[in-house]
Amino acid sequence: YRGGSKVFKKVGQYFSKKTEAKLIWNKITLHLDNLTKMLDRNPGIVVATLDYLSNFHNSLSSPVLVQEDKSDFISETTIRDGLTQLYLKSVFNFALEKELEKSFRSKNNLSLLMIDIDDFKQVNDNYGHLEGDIALKTIGELINENVRKMDTAARYGGEELAIIVPESKPKEAVLLAQRIRKKISEIKFSGFSVTVSIGVCHSSLDIKSTNDIIDRADKALYEAKQSGKNRVVVYKRTQ
Ligand code: GH3
Ligand code: MG
Ligand code: MG
Repeated sequence: YRGGSKVFKKVGQYFSKKTEAKLIWNKITLHLDNLTKMLDRNPGIVVATLDYLSNFHNSLSSPVLVQEDKSDFISETTIRDGLTQLYLKSVFNFALEKELEKSFRSKNNLSLLMIDIDDFKQVNDNYGHLEGDIALKTIGELINENVRKMDTAARYGGEELAIIVPESKPKEAVLLAQRIRKKISEIKFSGFSVTVSIGVCHSSLDIKSTNDIIDRADKALYEAKQSGKNRVVVYKRTQ
C-alpha cells in the first residue's frame, strides 16, 4: 500500500512476528478496498486499520485515537526530564542493563560517564535557583548536542548526569568526557561560569552488573572532586 508504510510500521511494532504483521497488513488493505466499495468513498487506511483490528481481528478492545504529533510529544515527555531534556533515570537504568548485556556478547567496550556539577549549591546561593535551573538546562542541551544517537545521556539525580557510551574505544569515551567538560566551562552564564567533574569507567571482565560499573564511575568521580574538581578521572583498579 503506497503511503501506508508508517501505519504498517506501527502494525509491525504491535505484532511481534514480521510474517504475522504482513498477513494482517494485507487483510487491512483488503478491508480498506471493501469499505471503499461499501461506503462509496475511501475512509483512509487509519480508519480501516482501526475497524479491522477492533471489529474483525479482535486484537484491540478499547483503542484511543491520539493525533500523531501529540503521541510523539507524550512519548518524549515520559522518557525525558522536563528541565534538561536528558533521559530520565528509569531510561538510564534500562539502557545500561541492555548495553552491558550487549557488551558481554559483542566484546565491544562500554564506557560510563558520571558527571557532577562543581559547587552547584554556591551557584544557587549566589545567583538564585532560577539561574541554577538555566545552567542545568543549558548543560543538558550541550550534552545532547555532543553525544551520538546511540549514547544515552541522562539526568541521574539533581545535578548529577550520566552518559552511557557503547561501542567506542576507551580513549574515545575519555575524549568525549574532556570535550564536554571543556565546553561546559566555556559557557558564559549571567555573571558566572560553571565547571563539572567527570568519573569514567570502562567495561572490563570483572564488571558483572550495572551496579559494578556505576560504583566504579562514582569512585572515579569522587576522586575527581577530591583532586580539585573541573577534571576527568578514569577508574583504575587501585581506587
Ligand atoms: P560539589 O562540587 O561537591 O558537587 O558541590 P555541590 O555544591 O555541587 O554539591 P551538593 O551536593 O552539596 O549540592 C548540590 C546542589 O545542587 C544542591 C541542590 O540544591 C542543587 N540542585 C539539585 N537539583 C537542582 C535543580 O534542579 N535546580 C537547581 N537550581 N539546583 C539543583
Ligand atoms: Mg555537585
Ligand atoms: Mg551532587
